[in-house]
Amino acid sequence: MTFPKKLLVIGLCSYSSALFGQAQAVLSHPFQSHSSLNLSSSHNLGDQPLRELAPGALEDLGLNSRFHLRSKEETGLNLYNDNKIESISYGFELDSVPVCDLEVKVHRSLDGQTTLMGDLPPNPAGQASKFVWADSASVEKIVSQTFVMASLGADSKVLSQEACLYTENGLKPVYKMVVEARGLIYEVVADGNEVYRFDPRHFHANGTAEVYEFNSTDGQTASLELPDMDPSGYLVNKNFQSCLPTTGGRALCKPGDGTANYPFAQKANLDFDYSPQTEISQFTQTSVFAHTNQALKWLKNHGYQNYGTALIKLLPHAVFSNGDINNALYQPATTTTTPMILVGDGDGVGLQNLGTDGDVVSHELGHHVVYHTVKTISGESLVLHEALADFFTFARTGDACLGESICPQDDGRSYCYKPRQCLRTAENDLKFGAAGLPTQAHLQGQFVSGMLWDMNTKDSIPMDHLVTLVLKGIDLLVTNSGYKHFIVALMLVDHSDFDGQYCSKILSRAKSRGLESKLTDVTCDTIVDNPTLTPAPTSSVATPTAAKS
Ligand SMILES: [Zn+2]
Repeated sequence: MTFPKKLLVIGLCSYSSALFGQAQAVLSHPFQSHSSLNLSSSHNLGDQPLRELAPGALEDLGLNSRFHLRSKEETGLNLYNDNKIESISYGFELDSVPVCDLEVKVHRSLDGQTTLMGDLPPNPAGQASKFVWADSASVEKIVSQTFVMASLGADSKVLSQEACLYTENGLKPVYKMVVEARGLIYEVVADGNEVYRFDPRHFHANGTAEVYEFNSTDGQTASLELPDMDPSGYLVNKNFQSCLPTTGGRALCKPGDGTANYPFAQKANLDFDYSPQTEISQFTQTSVFAHTNQALKWLKNHGYQNYGTALIKLLPHAVFSNGDINNALYQPATTTTTPMILVGDGDGVGLQNLGTDGDVVSHELGHHVVYHTVKTISGESLVLHEALADFFTFARTGDACLGESICPQDDGRSYCYKPRQCLRTAENDLKFGAAGLPTQAHLQGQFVSGMLWDMNTKDSIPMDHLVTLVLKGIDLLVTNSGYKHFIVALMLVDHSDFDGQYCSKILSRAKSRGLESKLTDVTCDTIVDNPTLTPAPTSSVATPTAAKS
């Protein structure tokens, strides 16, 4: 008798729909055109106990008589807990040796519809009459080599092994092993020549990073959670991947693909507790990764939804053009590359501690948030980019000083707006169009971040509401939006989400920061009366350069 290899695969969703009255359609489906396979038609399965009739049914379906069934589990009908399908499951044995990888379940619903799930083992005829298992030394050797090649270390240990038959192109005598490497458990199926299966028997788990919560002025490190970590033990999860530079100036993101200038941080137990004194590179990699994750978590907690699915690559120890290391940078995705955040080390003269101060990557991630809508990197759009990237950092830390650990004590050549203290500050009186407004985009952005900071500290708009206004406001902007668009966007979100209660505060604060000339035709009434208001775009032009820190 022939039978399809996959008789039926039913996902959990089908089960739940089956329980809601579609049982007939879902469960009987594969048998409708193959009546010879229909258990119901060949057996009276309506009233006989399932465990008595299932073995005969499996034989009818083609199970070779040399196999013995190993009953594993039985679940009866239970009308009280809503279990309307009874089930029995089996493994297989051939000459007292178990089949490693197969299981079948026979399910019967209340109306007698019966379904087999799972594959039957292949016919053993034609196989060697006696299976011969490899000696354990050669099996352990190939397992050890596999772990080394997977960058999981040379000290893997086989904790247990069971001789069994693996069903790949017939039946193969193999060992199914539980192997420990660097504190994590793997399941391996191998013989003396080949590893057939090599699966982590653990799932994405949270890790921890021992880093400064904010920066080195904290004095001591704290445990920050690292969500959904990859089981490889490297600094990778679904949002970020830690990379390292190579001598050729490349970013190496997969440790096996080349040689990096620094050792990759890797902790199999996902507890990244490197010393800030003696393991500086790994501590820096961990800091950059942990701080970016922290910043993203905070944004998401405040309603940020546009992260996208792309993995953002992180590059600590980055070197920029002309050997500059006093910078950090966000590079948006291109058609062929994913976004990347690059962080230099600082030379201790211009800047310092860039990799361990959370404000640095927080600012760069802010560019990713703004870049969702504003893609022009010049003029007012660029200043807005820098200002909002700073604002998210100020709002999250509750601290108006950006990068308080990154300014060297010798201020002669430092880049810090407040020498020896802050790269930039939200506590400022800078005004658009007024004397003293810096021309450099980052520094000029302080008039916008300072304006937003004032809306909280002076105008008493709660910080959570202000962050919502800014995050949702960004969604309303266009590729070359400038100051006017931004203020109007804040007012529109205020109108839709906060009943317009902050409108006059937003408008008057914007005017006090020199934006009066930009807002001559904007009033709180025009926002209310004209919900489709579409302000004229600014005159900036697009350039392909990345948004620098
Ligand atoms: Zn920037």
